[in-house]
Amino acid sequence: KKKLTINFGAGPAKIPPSVLLEAQNDLLDYKGLGISVLEMSHRSSEFSKILHTTENLLCELLNIPQNYKVIFLQGGGSGQFSAVPLNLIGLKKDHCADYVVTGAWSGKAAKEAEKYGKINTVFPKMDSYTKIPDVSNWNLNPDASYVYYCSNETVHGVEFNFIPDTKGTTLVCDMSSNFLSRPVDVSKFGLLFAGAQKNAGCAGVTVVIVREDLLGYAAKECPIILDYKVQAGMNSLYNTPPCFSIYIMGLVCEWIKNNGGLEAMEKLSITKSKLLYDIIDESNGFYVCPVESQSRSRMNIFFRIGSINGDEELEKKFLDEAAKRSMLSLKGHRSVGGIRASLYNAVTVEETKALAEYMIEFMKVHR
Ligand code: PMP
Repeated sequence: KKKLTINFGAGPAKIPPSVLLEAQNDLLDYKGLGISVLEMSHRSSEFSKILHTTENLLCELLNIPQNYKVIFLQGGGSGQFSAVPLNLIGLKKDHCADYVVTGAWSGKAAKEAEKYGKINTVFPKMDSYTKIPDVSNWNLNPDASYVYYCSNETVHGVEFNFIPDTKGTTLVCDMSSNFLSRPVDVSKFGLLFAGAQKNAGCAGVTVVIVREDLLGYAAKECPIILDYKVQAGMNSLYNTPPCFSIYIMGLVCEWIKNNGGLEAMEKLSITKSKLLYDIIDESNGFYVCPVESQSRSRMNIFFRIGSINGDEELEKKFLDEAAKRSMLSLKGHRSVGGIRASLYNAVTVEETKALAEYMIEFMKVHR
């Protein structure tokens, strides 16, 4: 029997209980084979079926056009911070790229990319990551090989509610923390990637969705396991892939499909995030979300308690009391402090309501 804990973790994060049950059921004996997915050859027909099923479900959920490849890689989102420039900086002769830095993760990606090419950040560094600067003020370089952005900044709780228009330059997106949370027009992107451990399963696998004509530009020093053309050409089986993580991703995709697909996930995430943002906005400054309303994340609700810089004692009290109520992982990222509630697909409306009620109660006692 499982303890009734509510997991608001930012990743690794909650996985739907029915998925865990199915994995548990399959663990010792996968579909009568007498072995588990953890033990089977990545070249067996059974694993091949798992791989194709996962890929097909992603294609179905995201409506991925025919001219795109889906690749399953290791190395996490951070691995892609290197893989993207190593594969794409050579698309154009100048070997430069534009980076849209709206928070910690796009910042890290830009820093890593500087090892491989000339990196232009499209607006001056912001003092604090609380908004997405107006696109009309972005300084885009027409000779850039690609424009890179992060659609949801997990640490700062900043999310794009639009897809940037790059005036024809290849668009690359780190979708790690809002992947599968809403429908996306994949055809607008040259490449998008996402680590699995938020909305798409467990850590260990990173999905890359890339348009075929972008394959074949890798730098000669690109590690072969990160070479998109090699991995796409071998159906992600150049080397041993993260088999179990791919299997879990397949189960999660099936769960999303059976629960109404990405439109339904989006509706739920609007409902859930509104529950918390409304309390914050109606708290007369007791709770403060520093992010501008149109750029607020539906996935990671970041807020301070007491003031915009946070009353750390009060925040600690909030977290301690939450833990007593079995609400876990509400602490903000160590780099920014405060509170962060992550409301990924598997977190239910009821669980979010429990947090909302706790926030109201805490405010009554401590304001
Ligand atoms: N991008 C985003 C948006 C993230 O949230 C994270 C991790 N939280 C990463 C990249 C890095 O992922 P990993 O830890 O898998 O390298």
